[in-house]
Amino acid sequence: MTTCLHCYSLNIVKNGKSYYGKQNYKCRYCCRQAVERAPEKLYSGDDLLKSLLLERVPLHAIARVLKMDNPEYTDPTIRK
Ligand SMILES: [Zn+2]
Repeated sequence: MTTCLHCYSLNIVKNGKSYYGKQNYKCRYCCRQAVERAPEKLYSGDDLLKSLLLERVPLHAIARVLKMDNPEYTDPTIRK
């Protein structure tokens, strides 16, 4: 956490731990406290893959977009 969640001040200090053991911060400008939260992921890798499969995106396109090094599926149109 680098800024206050309430006033966006950069003047924050550590202020003990929360009940759940997470770092608690206090803003020296507005005196409000906040606990840092993990950033929310839009999709995990598996969720993104499931969503793409449900949208019927071709497997070779999924492998290309997700940059899979060794996908189990091989495109039959690709000839070596
Ligand atoms: Zn503040």
